[in-house]
Amino acid sequence: MTNQISALLGLLQCPACGVAPLESVAQPYPDDLPFEPSGQHLRCHQCKAVFPVTADHIPVLWTPALKAQMLAEPDPESNLGANLQIYNTISDEYLAYTRRLPENALRIRDAARRLQDIFTADTPRYHLDFGCGPGQVLGWLQDTGLTPVGLDVSLANLRNARQSTGALVVCGDATRMPFRADVFGLVTEASVLHHIQDWQAVVREAGRVCHPAGGIVLDAEPSREMVAFSRLAVFVFDLRFPVYRLLSRVWKSKYIFRNTEQAKLNLKAEIHHQPGTGFPLEELKNLFLQAGYELHLFHSPGADLASVKPPKLQNMILNLLSFRNPWNPKFGSFTALGAAPGKQLIERTSR
Ligand SMILES: [Zn+2]
Repeated sequence: MTNQISALLGLLQCPACGVAPLESVAQPYPDDLPFEPSGQHLRCHQCKAVFPVTADHIPVLWTPALKAQMLAEPDPESNLGANLQIYNTISDEYLAYTRRLPENALRIRDAARRLQDIFTADTPRYHLDFGCGPGQVLGWLQDTGLTPVGLDVSLANLRNARQSTGALVVCGDATRMPFRADVFGLVTEASVLHHIQDWQAVVREAGRVCHPAGGIVLDAEPSREMVAFSRLAVFVFDLRFPVYRLLSRVWKSKYIFRNTEQAKLNLKAEIHHQPGTGFPLEELKNLFLQAGYELHLFHSPGADLASVKPPKLQNMILNLLSFRNPWNPKFGSFTALGAAPGKQLIERTSR
């Protein structure tokens, strides 16, 4: 597995100075670590910052904030600490029980196919899934012919992702991705952006590491309109904790509610998916434009981007309690594709 590191070196960039490539040094990392290190570490050509590699060959390209959370017990009051703590705990269950509906896979595959259709000879044949979790998206896109790379803050997630898909994996923070500019042809995420406080930095980083002749997919994200629920809806929504806690004993996909502390930690993690939050679509569109991409938006897409899925029961109730039409696709989650301005992203009839 040592060649995992050599396969990645050409893509990596120092997250400390943000400009220079990294080199492998055949000595262990000089400081104590909360995980077992390998006999090598990585060093920046320019600023000489050093980064560990785990014994099972995962480069840990942490930012100062991520390093602080990984070296101590994660701070559940911080958004990054909450994500780290929760995914180190639930990674296996997330892989087993979350996002199992076939429509999730089909929709991402449709998005990737539309973007691959506009690839040119220059587009790099690498796929990055950031916030890869235990590897669902990497698995769904395994037959794209692209070399898959997963980025995540949680080592538990990265180990699951690599084991379930064979992808190359990197530990790092999506607000400062440890990758060179323009190295990926396809950059994806599903249900991740709303977990990250500085989401604007993440969108800029996705645009930076994606090649101009490639494309970006943001999937299953809440718009500001979607989560603008009434106070009545929010009151009812908050009653789900005790209800789901009971249900979690029989309903495996509700495992997160088994313990109310964990469910509340998840609220801290899903920071932009709370009533009154969500993403302002105009700002998202402008961030894409500044990064050199045109935004293609799909509201409540079903198994393919051309279809509209009916509201889930939970959302239907929240919408009705907010006195709005639950069948309006704008009140469901969105999928956003980014591609060079002026490109047509064509629907394909065959799968
Ligand atoms: Zn550096």
